[in-house]
Amino acid sequence: HAFDHRKLSNRILLALGLGLAVGIILNLTASGVEWVQNFIVDGVFSVVGDIFVGFLKMLIVPLVFVSLVTGVSSLSDPGRLGRVGGKSVGLYLLTTGIAISLALAAAVLVRPGEGASPPSPVEREIAAQPPFSQVLVDMVPSNPVQSMAEADMLPIIVFAVLLGLSIAFSGRSGERVGQFFSDFNEVVMRLTGFVMLLAPYGVFALIAGLAASTGLDTFFGLAKYVVLVLVVLVLHAVVTYSLMLKLLTGLSPRIFFSKMRGVLAFAFSTASSGATIPVTLKTVEQRLGADNRVASFTVPLGATINMDGTAIMQGIAAGFIAQYYGVDLGVGQYLMIVLMVIMASVGAAGVPGVGLVLLAGVLTAVGLPAEGIGLILGVDRVLDMTRTAVNVTGDAMVTTVVAHSEGELDREIFEDQQVG
Ligand code: ASP
Repeated sequence: HAFDHRKLSNRILLALGLGLAVGIILNLTASGVEWVQNFIVDGVFSVVGDIFVGFLKMLIVPLVFVSLVTGVSSLSDPGRLGRVGGKSVGLYLLTTGIAISLALAAAVLVRPGEGASPPSPVEREIAAQPPFSQVLVDMVPSNPVQSMAEADMLPIIVFAVLLGLSIAFSGRSGERVGQFFSDFNEVVMRLTGFVMLLAPYGVFALIAGLAASTGLDTFFGLAKYVVLVLVVLVLHAVVTYSLMLKLLTGLSPRIFFSKMRGVLAFAFSTASSGATIPVTLKTVEQRLGADNRVASFTVPLGATINMDGTAIMQGIAAGFIAQYYGVDLGVGQYLMIVLMVIMASVGAAGVPGVGLVLLAGVLTAVGLPAEGIGLILGVDRVLDMTRTAVNVTGDAMVTTVVAHSEGELDREIFEDQQVG
């Protein structure tokens, strides 16, 4: 069983590589051939990809709810919940702060907006972001069933935590209900395992479809921007995360990243940290050794409030747009960007492309033209995929650190290469 994990991760990576190869070949040889476009790219690839993402999404609400209720109700002392909450929110904000600072520094040093020649701006309706006070009010699950129907993560988390606490304080009835949730959690985890068996096909279809239909020419005028975002993303993931993991836990970053490879492939191909939650949760618990009592809280929370990769894109994009329009930003505006980016990522769901919507709010707040988004829209998908992989890596790293600090990390599982 343990060995299957490893085989599956490798098959998913293989599928990613194959999908890329097949997609590129189709892109180069058959982009004008109508039946290939209609039946293969927009047909088979898109249907298989959508089915796969649909099954992943199917898991999110039941898994997050059941596993969080289980985790909270089995906490022996409720004070611990406060500590886990404080540490994880603190670390999530800290890593996002580092990410946005790195991004702004890179944008100021490299100046990607100078001499850029983006393709003509694409018009796009941008939905307004709710103010932060509204985000706080919306965290209250005034109708938990509706929150679940809409997969609205923060109110679901609040409801699950309250219900879990009540179970812990309800004596014998609480024990029985808690036992039910704990059994249910096992069952939903098993279901997650079944859905993951589809991953190689889903990942292949998503990547092949994308590679077959992405025009390379849009990238040329924006090469400096694209490369800079990718470099800072990789830098943050490899340097910041490895350093934090090593310094705060002494655990090996190499093992961490090697066990994360399946999750990375999921995040990359779906461009959604929300849809990746089931895989992230399964991986941090069963392969990195974090206990459900910590992970069931930190993973869904991280998927919503922690978006380091998205922060990096926004920082560099803001710099890019300012430079392109010849606007000089002052220190106050840079600080404003840092604050806005951190706050915006708290309320936003981890779905594809949400980073661009957040960026609109950030640009407006510092007086930059929101139409600037049209300049980078054409190249955003690939960056979205990559930053989502960074977002979920951050969630898993913080989960590992918090679990370790609470004595809830099983070192033997972490270090066992057989479950990698
Ligand atoms: N797609 C990203 C995520 O789900 C969010 C974004 O940057 O658009 O984490």
